[in-house]
Amino acid sequence: MRVTAVEAIPFRIPFAEKKVWARGTMDAAEHVLVRVRTDAGLTGIAEAPPRPTIYGESLRSIIAALEDWFGPAVLGIDPFATEQVLERFERWVGNPTPRAALEMALADIKAQAAGVPVYKLLGGWQDRIPVCARVPTGDGEAVARSCAALRERYGITTFKIKVGMDHRRDVATLRTVREALGAEVRLCPDANQGYDPQTAVRVLKAIEELDITLLEEPCRIDNDRGRRLVAASTTIPLMGDESCTTVPEVRRQLSLGAVGVVSIKVARTGFALSQRIAHLCEAESVANLCGTQADSGIGVVCGAHFAASCRNVTLASELTGFLDMVDDLLVEAPRIEQGMITLADRPGLGIRIDEAKLRQYGL
Ligand SMILES: [Mg+2]
Repeated sequence: MRVTAVEAIPFRIPFAEKKVWARGTMDAAEHVLVRVRTDAGLTGIAEAPPRPTIYGESLRSIIAALEDWFGPAVLGIDPFATEQVLERFERWVGNPTPRAALEMALADIKAQAAGVPVYKLLGGWQDRIPVCARVPTGDGEAVARSCAALRERYGITTFKIKVGMDHRRDVATLRTVREALGAEVRLCPDANQGYDPQTAVRVLKAIEELDITLLEEPCRIDNDRGRRLVAASTTIPLMGDESCTTVPEVRRQLSLGAVGVVSIKVARTGFALSQRIAHLCEAESVANLCGTQADSGIGVVCGAHFAASCRNVTLASELTGFLDMVDDLLVEAPRIEQGMITLADRPGLGIRIDEAKLRQYGL
């Protein structure tokens, strides 16, 4: 089996509500659908989401990288030759999402050819994974209402709450949510590097009694001294996200002792490099979860397959991005029931693109 074509198709699906976080805003998902065709008639898909403020990519840069570099690099290759693919990709630096999407689309093809779901090909740990929902920002009461509504509708009990803009309000918000929702829910605030180290230490002291599951990226990712100081000041695990976007970055944060959890995002490290990250973390007793890149249903399904494949993904994964969009490109969107996504026993990723919707939302 050989790869015969790589397509990069941009699309735009509006969010129901504008997204706001410490470093930016977004009102629609403008992503690239990556589709790989083979001479065996099998087609693999994945999506590449540009995040200019995080990875310096744009819709056009992703398409150019696929058309000029990564696409031609895999033409004629056997989709099972994953290590060959990674080696060819090493000719270029940067551009994490097109290379990740292409490698995942090839994995979709491999699993279809083998007649098994992707999560079984990758490790087959389980077929159901708990999810964590990202709650819209607002005052404490509003955040608590959003959490309660998500618990009511989907059975979700783990919540990612954006903080990092006003430390007093952040502490008050977390306290309000804990009081409103009780002891069973898990709270995962994400500061997106919004605090200086001293403020982070104060916030962590103030929320220590609230049984917080983790605090994500309290401080600048390039301040090693500050990160060590903050990590040493608390029993709340700090999660690396922006500091852990590549295998070498994860190695660095592990050796610093600055992270207790590492967020794996398949949108930036695909399946093969995500496995390497999980293995590094497992060796140091650092847990993983699958983070969100505000993916549509395609990216959510990719993340769910990885999370289900991997024993070291022990925390609820952020696989709810598609809920925030007014529609999806898939014939059948993922379903969340009792706070879990259950993977189908279909070969590959087990998803299909709705061509009418692709025409509607294609750019
Ligand atoms: Mg984050």
